[in-house]
Amino acid sequence: MSVVLTNIGELVTNDPGLGGGLGIVTGAAVVVDDGRIAWTGPAASAPAADVAVDLGGRCVIPGFVDSHSHTVFAGDRSAEFAARMTGEPYTGGGIATTVAATRAAGEDTLRARAQALVREMLAQGTTTVEIKSGYGQDVATEARTLRIARELTPETTYLGAHTVPAEYADDRPGYLSLVTGPMLAACAPHARWVDVFCEPAAPTAFDEDESRVVLRAGLRAGLGARVHGNQLSAGPGVRLAVEVGAASVDHCTHLTDADVDALAGSWSADPGGSRGPGTVATLLPAVEFSTRSPYPDARRLLAAGVPVALATDCNPGSGYSSSMPFVVALAVREMRMSPAEALWSATAGGAAALRRDDVGHLGVGARADLAVLDAPGHTYLAYRPGVPLVSEVWKDGARVTPR
Ligand SMILES: [Zn+2]
Repeated sequence: MSVVLTNIGELVTNDPGLGGGLGIVTGAAVVVDDGRIAWTGPAASAPAADVAVDLGGRCVIPGFVDSHSHTVFAGDRSAEFAARMTGEPYTGGGIATTVAATRAAGEDTLRARAQALVREMLAQGTTTVEIKSGYGQDVATEARTLRIARELTPETTYLGAHTVPAEYADDRPGYLSLVTGPMLAACAPHARWVDVFCEPAAPTAFDEDESRVVLRAGLRAGLGARVHGNQLSAGPGVRLAVEVGAASVDHCTHLTDADVDALAGSWSADPGGSRGPGTVATLLPAVEFSTRSPYPDARRLLAAGVPVALATDCNPGSGYSSSMPFVVALAVREMRMSPAEALWSATAGGAAALRRDDVGHLGVGARADLAVLDAPGHTYLAYRPGVPLVSEVWKDGARVTPR
């Protein structure tokens, strides 16, 4: 059955063929057929479809692609947040609290929490989400986490190397052997990606050599690479991500000039003339907001031509927001991205960070994943922060919220 969504005040396609940037069409219509975008253009020239839906002049954007989240966990860390807001510095050590609660939780408890968070994301316009493990840090709990995540999304990431758990504090090589051996074997069937928290400044995270071992093992097991890097210091994370051909390096709060050059260089044509895909810089400003830390320098990356993604990093410790509209508003207000740049990064940028060409845009052939904003244009996402502007969400060509 084909559907024409018509009377769209502003349609954001992210199709560079339609005038560059966001590929905006005003007074637009979209025809959806068999879960895919079949046609976009001015409403007056839309082809006929089985069903017509009048969107009343509202704005339509591609569904958000949240390329970084940690949504399978148990426990509560609101007290840690409250303490931090009254002056305690964030060091990342609180992850152990979530690890203990996640190991102790039953599978049904973990699944119910994760399903609720993904529903919450969907209602705010997120139609593609990546979910990481990393709160198990033992073979059974990491595998359980990824099995649950795989029920919710194809974009699952094995992050056994999130931190070194307390029982291995005096045996880091022993934990690395577990992460790259039996744990990887149990998790790889449920994962698309491997990730590591490469941050020598955090004592329970991993240094450059350790991180390289983890990523290379994941690549050998057939997974794609992504890296948590340069969050707390200008460490080796970006360098390593580019070295192994990671799809994304996430946080990028502290970068050297060499880091920026390496990211930009990863997208430049090689001597054979082929181009990328390189390494996306994924910024997670809800973490800086929730840890009261300096924001990444988005303008420096954009000026260097580095593709930038925005994601929530939704997790119980350093930032517990599931809201991509909130992230867009932060990126505009706090990181000086334009409303158009921020929306591109939250949709097409996220898709690039997941190396997906079927989401993050509304070109012909893309998945018909889109959000309808109760607003005349996309600028309202940042102009009206905290307001529930996402009034409808369509996924694979069907309206999923409100049902
Ligand atoms: Zn993260």
